[in-house]
Amino acid sequence: TDVKELLLSRIRDVPDYPQPGVMFKDITPLLADPTAFSALTDALADLCVRYGATKIVGLEARGFILAAPVAVRAGVGFIPVRKAGKLPGATLAQSYELEYGQAEIEVHAEDLAVGDRVMVIDDVLATGGTAEASLQLIRRAGAEVAGLAVLMELGFLGGRPRLEPALEGTPLEAL
Ligand code: 5GP
Repeated sequence: TDVKELLLSRIRDVPDYPQPGVMFKDITPLLADPTAFSALTDALADLCVRYGATKIVGLEARGFILAAPVAVRAGVGFIPVRKAGKLPGATLAQSYELEYGQAEIEVHAEDLAVGDRVMVIDDVLATGGTAEASLQLIRRAGAEVAGLAVLMELGFLGGRPRLEPALEGTPLEAL
């Protein structure tokens, strides 16, 4: 579609970043283009409404940039899921495996509760490790996952099949 082509045209491929052999998808040209950023926000907000989200989780750090305006447009609250050690209040934590070593994400425990339907938003789905941990975190907080929406899915990294069990039938939308 037109929106898809507009979004794709504003994503820059940066070779060998952050390390040799990696082709990094840079979304800063999209953020700098108000027409593209607004079209992305609209498309994500439509998904949140369609799936009945009552809260929006953004994944640090680029997920914050996308999820915050979506939450405002959809008329629901924004909840940050952050890397360990950044949130000041009482948190729930979830660790997950990286290619080398481990990572941990956290959410404020009081931000999610039974009855919430949470849409998770991030910029890029790569291996799916970050997204998988966020789904576990949301359910451990007692909330329900409404779905996962990303700007871009790097299909060759196998994130979608890896996430399949954790999605428990909820949608994974890649614009
Ligand atoms: P995963 O856990 O799926 O392997 O990695 C996803 C996380 O890494 C996302 O939060 C995403 O922001 C970041 N990421 C991985 N590769 C890229 C990339 O090529 N471009 C951007 N913008 N983010 C990436």
